[in-house]
Amino acid sequence: MVSIVTKSPQETEYIGKRMAAFLTPGDIISLTGDLGAGKTLLVQGIAKGLGIEDIVTSPTFTIIQQYEEGRIPLYHMDVYRIKDPIEMEDIGYEEYFYGQGVTFVEWGNLIPELFPEEHLKIHITNIEDGREIDFEPVGRHYMDLVEELTGHAYTRI
Ligand code: ADP
Ligand code: MG
Repeated sequence: MVSIVTKSPQETEYIGKRMAAFLTPGDIISLTGDLGAGKTLLVQGIAKGLGIEDIVTSPTFTIIQQYEEGRIPLYHMDVYRIKDPIEMEDIGYEEYFYGQGVTFVEWGNLIPELFPEEHLKIHITNIEDGREIDFEPVGRHYMDLVEELTGHAYTRI
């Protein structure tokens, strides 16, 4: 796991903006952290970095919002209200998870069984003077992504 500490909302958004440069089609990221941790703000930074000018708001009621105008399509989900993975089937989640865009799932920990084996976990914790953003890549592709973003080198076997 690699962590970055941000001291302001602007810094968190900037991490997202920088991260956007390293994203490739098909990437899937699970975002976790308490309400108000900064999950949506991070995705707003991602959107900016992808060149999306639409206003990105929390998809709490729609479950999914998609933005097609950037460098790569952005699929932004919030599954907080999902009670049963069946509801994910109803919204056709596979089309997004295995599509040509990048998918960010707020509260992804609520549907762990639906994630592909390889994905990136990002957890945001409220700390005294800001936020700690933890990156936990599962699979080589996401290790490379975190390495590019943070400079942390994962061992190659
Ligand atoms: P979530 O989607 O996790 O519920 P939001 O991104 O909607 O959270 O909201 C995060 C809130 O916390 C925003 O109001 C933001 O201004 C505030 N905040 C304060 N400091 C930080 C920080 N260092 N990083 C991210 N958000 C912060
Ligand atoms: Mg949110």
